[in-house]
Amino acid sequence: MFQGLVTIAYIVAALFFILSLAGLSKQETAKRGNVFGITGMGIALLATIASANIQALIYILAAMLIGSLIGARLALKVEMTGMPELVAALHSFVGLAAVLVGYNSFLKLAGHEGQLLSGALLTIELTEIFLGVFIGAVTFAGSIVAFGKLRGIIKSKALSIPGKHWMNLTAIVTSIVLMGFFINAGGSMIYLAIMTGLSLLLGLHLVASIGGADMPVVISMLNSYSGWSTAAAGFMLSNDLLIVTGALVGSSGAILSYIMCKAMNRSFISVIAGGFGNEGAKVAKDEEAGEYREMSPEDVADQLKQSSSVLIAPGYGMAVAQAQYPVADITRKLRDMGIKVRFAIHPVAGRLPGHMNVLLAEAKVPYDIVLEMDEINEDFPETDTVLVIGANDTVNPSAKDDPTSPIAGMPVLEVWKAQTVIVFKRSMNAGYAGVPNPLFYKENSFMCFGDAKSTIEKILKAM
Ligand code: NDP
Repeated sequence: MFQGLVTIAYIVAALFFILSLAGLSKQETAKRGNVFGITGMGIALLATIASANIQALIYILAAMLIGSLIGARLALKVEMTGMPELVAALHSFVGLAAVLVGYNSFLKLAGHEGQLLSGALLTIELTEIFLGVFIGAVTFAGSIVAFGKLRGIIKSKALSIPGKHWMNLTAIVTSIVLMGFFINAGGSMIYLAIMTGLSLLLGLHLVASIGGADMPVVISMLNSYSGWSTAAAGFMLSNDLLIVTGALVGSSGAILSYIMCKAMNRSFISVIAGGFGNEGAKVAKDEEAGEYREMSPEDVADQLKQSSSVLIAPGYGMAVAQAQYPVADITRKLRDMGIKVRFAIHPVAGRLPGHMNVLLAEAKVPYDIVLEMDEINEDFPETDTVLVIGANDTVNPSAKDDPTSPIAGMPVLEVWKAQTVIVFKRSMNAGYAGVPNPLFYKENSFMCFGDAKSTIEKILKAM
């Protein structure tokens, strides 16, 4: 009877998770989506703690208390710019949990529980353990590399070892062979341990091989893997809610990866296979670039006052500088003066999907003037002034003009087609992908150097 209530609570929690995903798909309903997610998770936790399978409740409560304190501290401390690293770190925990659950299930099986299973049931249990540990280890190692790349501890450039695809393929085929041995032996620690080592290396290598501008896909892909790891843990623990939740996260992460690949004109398979097809790319030399021109904040103010249409292309630098607030102020001011102002949002601008939308919503910029790349790209030729605020890779013309560029083929905001482009950044340094940007040297481009927030504040003052 009591277990029946737990099952009902799990179904209710799963429904809340589905409502949460639906809510999170639109900016207007995102807050509600979060509330649904929190409610679902609250119900799931209570039902799990109350379920008959739980022993030694005190240890679980102690672990939850410690975990909640660490989680709350991290959530309060983390800046918007640090979110991607935090997400990558959290994915690594999910992977690690799946590995630990796998080993725990195996040890239980190797002990007295193994005698209760035989034939097909034993094979199914062993397959679940093997696959769960495999997916978990790839997710764990891959997420750690992603964390390092996003934090800047590891270079964002793609690692390119000769024969890298053969190495990945060998690791996968060897793991499949090991799975055969593992099942034939009725479970054996040695095969499980060798596969764990191999899959850790595979995870490290897969993510290390994907670099620069393809990183957004890696993050959503690891998100998907963490879902499948959760589902695998659910199978091992015979927990339906973990299976359902894992499948939701796994499939929504896979859909997001696909959408990101489409936005970046990349083949989904080539990216998840570890940057397949990137070998020919070269990074252009800076000396090829030419001369650039500068504009002072006061000149930018004059230029804006003379414009009748302005487009703002924000990027990662706006997030770092927390410049969204003065940007919102300048938008209000220009609109009050009768100037048409709109925002052009690239799908991978910043370091998280939807990063710019969140920042602009936070600063109360009206939704209806925030437009996606596809909606706005054709409007640049009719625009008087474009303000590129801390964006770099997402406005790089070499993606269109230079087939040898590492970002070749990625759709970009065609800001250079406007009459005047003003780029706000601190130096001539490259963006995340490490590719020099010919935009800075175009005849209609001007650099306005400095921290984006203080520069925009100076412009506001001058206006
Ligand atoms: P980029 O990362 O290409 O460039 C950001 C620019 O901001 C830098 O060139 C930097 O120049 C400038 N900047 C940094 N701090 C400041 C500051 N305080 N004030 C003014 N400028 C500043 O940005 P984009 O948004 O154009 O592109 C995003 C990149 O990140 C893409 O390559 C994308 O693939 C990748 N990525 C995206 C993810 C996502 O999900 N959206 C996830 C992971 C990676 P300077 O140092 O000279 O100031």
